Amino acid sequence: MSVTQEREQQVLDSVPTGILINGQWRDATGGKTLDVHDPATGKVLLSIADATTEDALAALDAASEAQRDWARTSARERAEILRRAFDLVTERAEDFALLMTMEMGKPLAEARGEVKYGAEFLRWFSEETVRDYGRYFTSPEGTNKMIVQRKPVGPSLLITPWNFPLAMATRKVAPAVAAGCTMILKPAKLTPLTSQLFAQVMQEAGLPAGVLNVVSSSSASSISGPLMQDDRLRKVSFTGSTPVGKRLLKDAADKVLRTSMELGGNAPFIVFEDADLDKAVQGAIDAKMRNMGEACTAANRFLVQKSVAKEFNEKFAAAMSALKTGRGTEDSTDVGPLVDDGARNDVDKLVQEAVKAGATVAAGGAKEEGPGYFYKPTVLTDVANDNPILQNEIFGPVAPVTTFETEEDAIRMANNTEYGLASYLYSKDFNRLIRVAEGLEFGLVGFNAGVISNAAAPFGGMKQSGMGREGGAEGIAEYTTTQYIGIADP
Ligand code: NAD
Repeated sequence: MSVTQEREQQVLDSVPTGILINGQWRDATGGKTLDVHDPATGKVLLSIADATTEDALAALDAASEAQRDWARTSARERAEILRRAFDLVTERAEDFALLMTMEMGKPLAEARGEVKYGAEFLRWFSEETVRDYGRYFTSPEGTNKMIVQRKPVGPSLLITPWNFPLAMATRKVAPAVAAGCTMILKPAKLTPLTSQLFAQVMQEAGLPAGVLNVVSSSSASSISGPLMQDDRLRKVSFTGSTPVGKRLLKDAADKVLRTSMELGGNAPFIVFEDADLDKAVQGAIDAKMRNMGEACTAANRFLVQKSVAKEFNEKFAAAMSALKTGRGTEDSTDVGPLVDDGARNDVDKLVQEAVKAGATVAAGGAKEEGPGYFYKPTVLTDVANDNPILQNEIFGPVAPVTTFETEEDAIRMANNTEYGLASYLYSKDFNRLIRVAEGLEFGLVGFNAGVISNAAAPFGGMKQSGMGREGGAEGIAEYTTTQYIGIADP
């Protein structure tokens, strides 16, 4: 059943509208506010406090004051807070899902999937934190004893994008809590409401005041700039576009800050002639259309072996054309709107340029008429290897398909990008899958699967897709630093 307006209002009414500093929700300095819109209608959903530089520095005051005591809490204590947060997010899954659909546009079924995925980081790190051991051993010479221990890196700035409003927050907050770091979370201005609600849930789960501070703001650099110049900040974890990531890396150099960078992608989706083509088409839809293509892991280029390209293209174009666009709260919706008009214009420009460069539109290829920022699910065929669309992160429901002859060609073409985040392979030959995966310069490889993200897996990119890993056993290490203690021969 589609969602009622009353239910939407009930969820919006539950969202704290202030900034969170030292456990208190308060107005922004100067009383500025920031409007959050529904991309399916363009209407304002809610106005929240718009944090200023002064607020960001107050958040850092709170984070640095709380750091010492927080670092001394037991791993078990932190684990239990995370586990309670997992339970609370799971109990309120429907509220979180609807809120994400409203502020970001993704269909409710996908938003529910994101709640499950995002909550898993809370559970996973509640389990990991108690196993974050150090070492005690005898030196190789046998003369003295050595202790190696991990300590929290310290107050961390967490900057998240708009495309996965809950999961991008939990993927950073959960390991930081597990490691014993205090935090300043700055969500994307297009979708801050989910982070606001999530921070309240963390408070309910028992997180002490000052450990998590939230400064939603219309001006990202007025928050990140001064914080990164302050000696008390120790780490920046950023998820977003490669150009902004590069800029933050340069800024981080001034204070030699620890950094984790989850940046853009240009995922190849490779279909070999021995693949099950129906499964490959379904995988292609999953890898391309989840989140309307607005995912760093979204399949961005389809490389299909020439002998099966015609059949694949026909099936893929038919499946894409059958998808129904609409507001994410409607049961019949497969594909929601893009996040704003600028994003839609960027996607359309890439499509028109690709067509000018010789591509054929096999499905879609244009904006949807009417309100909201909808774009037709699009398949482009006859895409030449040098078509510029193959080098750009599309971030929309557009699938350019190109062809290859041999396995070596497929590897070479796949690696022909400055990015190295996700990649996907379809074949029935497991040996081939391993061979090709070993040749790929990508942090994530999906075998016969269009969606592979998991809290238990290390997520992150090679090349200009970033550095560091989120999730898995690697996730906590991003928030710890190593200390060695040498002990004279007892
Ligand atoms: P973006 O880089 O515009 O913004 C990301 C975040 O950075 C937002 O919170 C934004 O307010 C902030 N920001 C923007 N300019 C800033 C500045 N000058 N200083 C400090 N902060 C600044 O990216 P986006 O449009 O929100 O997200 C889309 C991008 O994110 C895509 O490139 C996508 O591939 C990438 N992404 C990567 C991952 C990953 O894990 N690798 C996951 C999701 C999205």
